[in-house]
Amino acid sequence: MITKTIEDLSTLVSLSKRRGFVFQSSEVYGGLGSCWDYGPLGSLMKANVKRAWWKAMTRRADIVGIDAAILMHPTVWKASGHVDGFSDPLVDCKDCKTRFRSDNTESYLKHQKCPNCGSKNLSEPRQFNLMFKTTMGPVEDSSNVIYLRPETAQGIFVNFVNCQQSSRYKVPFGIAQIGKSFRNEITPGNFIFRTREFEQMEMQYFVKPGTDAQFFEEWKETRWNFYLKYGIKKENLQFHPHGPTELAHYAKAAVDVQYKFPMGFSELEGIHNRGDFDLTQHSKFSGKSLEYFDEANKEKYIPYVIETAVGCDRLFLAFMCDAYREEVTTSEKGEDTRLVLGLHPQIAPIKVAILPLSKKDELTSVAEKLRNELAEDFDVIYDESASIGKRYRRQDEIGTPFCVTVDFDTLNDQAVTVRHRDKMTQERIGCTQLSSYISEQLKRF
Ligand code: ATP
Repeated sequence: MITKTIEDLSTLVSLSKRRGFVFQSSEVYGGLGSCWDYGPLGSLMKANVKRAWWKAMTRRADIVGIDAAILMHPTVWKASGHVDGFSDPLVDCKDCKTRFRSDNTESYLKHQKCPNCGSKNLSEPRQFNLMFKTTMGPVEDSSNVIYLRPETAQGIFVNFVNCQQSSRYKVPFGIAQIGKSFRNEITPGNFIFRTREFEQMEMQYFVKPGTDAQFFEEWKETRWNFYLKYGIKKENLQFHPHGPTELAHYAKAAVDVQYKFPMGFSELEGIHNRGDFDLTQHSKFSGKSLEYFDEANKEKYIPYVIETAVGCDRLFLAFMCDAYREEVTTSEKGEDTRLVLGLHPQIAPIKVAILPLSKKDELTSVAEKLRNELAEDFDVIYDESASIGKRYRRQDEIGTPFCVTVDFDTLNDQAVTVRHRDKMTQERIGCTQLSSYISEQLKRF
């Protein structure tokens, strides 16, 4: 058997559409640039991705969660540096009207040429702010301008004191959040890798100055292990430390966790040592003290922040890429390809498929009853059409770890056949034990 991995993102784009993971937003109107909708399976899987991250963060004794509003006081974005600094340099081609980024477009950097038509008739680079603006209240007026947040982090910084005091946590401790962010990206693309509306999973860990370097290293290791735990292949991950020219204005140190997407190693998560930049800025702009009082040592200080920030959509894509495989076998009958999404069972959208061997009432009634019982505990699917082999394949390509076949023997022995996705082994399990059997299997991962 030969196993092929993913070579091109277009393979996933079509699988996603065909099986209901991800659709282009507003497709009936021709789509909206770089916006995507998660379908029946995609929305289940995305919830699993978020659950895995949320669990890894908020089940720790030193991390609390929040869910802050997308719309924030406009001064937040002045204090954070986004109003002045969150921009990309843009150049317009005066001939073909293409607009492109001047800082990472090869033909421009090398030859000062338009990447589309090759013209040298170009505008000077202009800074383009990436924040989406809107107005608040009934009157559209420049004094009512507010922004859709371009990152979730600021909702955490401005709630640092609220969270610390209400939960009575002592430094070091962290605040975690999952939520939508919006960036008017100039170069979106690569499917859901870079989009204009996306979801972030960010955690800010507040530490005593001087201990930051040690916590930075700890978080690097913790986050690395998270990816391995959920089955991402080690050879597809790497750290990319930021050199002095790559560091953001707020960062003392930064490293990206990169994943080997089909277009090459690219950022999946950023881990940053932000120092006391954010709390100091918000203190300055709001006039409120955001210091922490360490009771034990009778010391007051502004904590430093170690941040871990990963895009939910980008992680979803990494899981899909990593899981995709085509198993090709050749026999005298010819070549056969089994397409499998080898997703970690906790990430897979559907845990169990219930498949009655025939459409006869005596089998479907048992199968439907079993489906409803299992649905109390798991996301399940019921499928009674086509041959059993075809139905197994349908489940393999969406990553369902267990297929349960109800056959005529079931009527006598009250047992079903459980078929495992990866090894394709089969076991006979009593109907009444099925739910606990699946739970046990899922816990093993
Ligand atoms: P990139 O340069 O790759 O767009 P970034 O360095 O601007 O990312 P951060 O501001 O550090 O990203 O955001 C943290 C994480 O949020 C990124 O590692 C990525 O997973 C995710 N992210 C950022 N921008 C987008 C986007 N436009 N679409 C999808 N995910 C994003």
